[in-house]
Amino acid sequence: ILARGKDVCRRNGLLILSVLSVIVGCLLGFFLRTRRLSPQEISYFQFPGELLMRMLKMLILPLVVSSLMSGLASLDAKTSSRLGILTVAYYLWTTFVAVIVGIIMVSIIHPGGAAQKETTEQSGKPIMSSADALLDLIRNMFPANLVEATFKQYRTKTTPVIKSPKVAQEETPPRRILIYGVQEENGSRVQNFALDLTPPPEVVYKVEPGTSDGMNVLGIVIFSATMGIMLGRMGDSGAPLVSFCQCLNESVMKIVAVAVWYFPFGIVFLIAGKILEMDDPRAVGKKLGFYAVTVVCGLVLHGLFILPLLYFFITRKNPIVFIRGVLQALLIALATSSSSATLPITFKCLLENNHIDRRIARFVLPVGATINMDGTALYEAVAAIFIAQVNNYELDFGQIITISITATAASIGAAGIPQAGLVTMVIVLTSVGLPTDDITLIIAVDWALDRFRTMINVLGDALAAGIMAHICRKDFARDTGTEKLPPIET
Ligand code: ASP
Repeated sequence: ILARGKDVCRRNGLLILSVLSVIVGCLLGFFLRTRRLSPQEISYFQFPGELLMRMLKMLILPLVVSSLMSGLASLDAKTSSRLGILTVAYYLWTTFVAVIVGIIMVSIIHPGGAAQKETTEQSGKPIMSSADALLDLIRNMFPANLVEATFKQYRTKTTPVIKSPKVAQEETPPRRILIYGVQEENGSRVQNFALDLTPPPEVVYKVEPGTSDGMNVLGIVIFSATMGIMLGRMGDSGAPLVSFCQCLNESVMKIVAVAVWYFPFGIVFLIAGKILEMDDPRAVGKKLGFYAVTVVCGLVLHGLFILPLLYFFITRKNPIVFIRGVLQALLIALATSSSSATLPITFKCLLENNHIDRRIARFVLPVGATINMDGTALYEAVAAIFIAQVNNYELDFGQIITISITATAASIGAAGIPQAGLVTMVIVLTSVGLPTDDITLIIAVDWALDRFRTMINVLGDALAAGIMAHICRKDFARDTGTEKLPPIET
């Protein structure tokens, strides 16, 4: 039993540490609240957590660029152009559907509490019209300067300017009616009251195109994806850059693999620091529970209903049989939180249990593990709207559209490794001006949600391989005997 226990601890060390750090962080936070620390003491205490956030942000640029360029460069236009286009179109479409499911779920359940809608004047926050938000989104897709895009993004600032009406005192006497009344209430006299009829001040909006701090990851995603596709088309002449990107991607993954061991320590201080800062941590704890339920409901709806139904309508085959075939891969995804780590098992399941053409699986799965993350996209949309709800920040239609597009882009940019979605979450939040530090709000439950969304990511890739095998069966039947791809090692 001891040996078995040791083995379990060795294999799940990080998971156990993450769970423990959440518990220790909560206990420490609640304990320190009783000590009434000064704001300065709290800020020192939060420093290890701040380091964790800085590490996450530091990894965005190399992760997004290398994973997209190396993943998309594998789209060899000569051998698999039809399969490539269909697969990418299918991936984009299902990811977008997942985002919509997430937005609908979070709008129905409203885990962030009933928003007390603040007007712009009350909140003092700059507002942005839907048209400006949409234009900024398109501007951000095409950064004029790639270097600037690594630390700034376009953001039109619309600030309300309150103008008092210019009325001469003698022309317009103050429009105030005083109503005098004497009323007895509990033995005391109640004062007079006045009705102010002065016209409300005129509010004009100052629209200034400009930039704001924060990486323009959308622009970087678009550029890297285009570069990746072009490199794939260049064949041998593009090979040096492709292998450079693959190398970069692998080394970044190795950095992430080392950095994750700091995460449990950082999480303790992030969570405790957040609890110290909160007005009423119990209220937020309840909201966090609702948030987790929202994400899980969305994932179940998308993974167990929408995707299988799509598979059934396209292939006319039983999705339950298909899912049973990849069950082992789904369990590995649950255990590892990494769709990349699950890849060999997904291959094995698809070839041995579901009899998918090896050439299709070899193409669809790695691209899927890089760019197709329905679970991640759904979670990012829910998390962004949840953070807006918690902050009483009312999102308009343009901002919801921005969230849906950036959540899709952020999931494409996320690597298939544990909690990569948390890193690219920053993209979605900055795109609509939400506080990125509030990622700490959701970090407590992220280790658990990551497992569920990884399962849906892997299921999405597997079902895509099944659908592509059905659609392209004739193309690949013609090619039988002329296999161009090397056998896989599982
Ligand atoms: N862990 C996920 C995956 O590997 C990515 C994420 O959403 O964090 O698919």
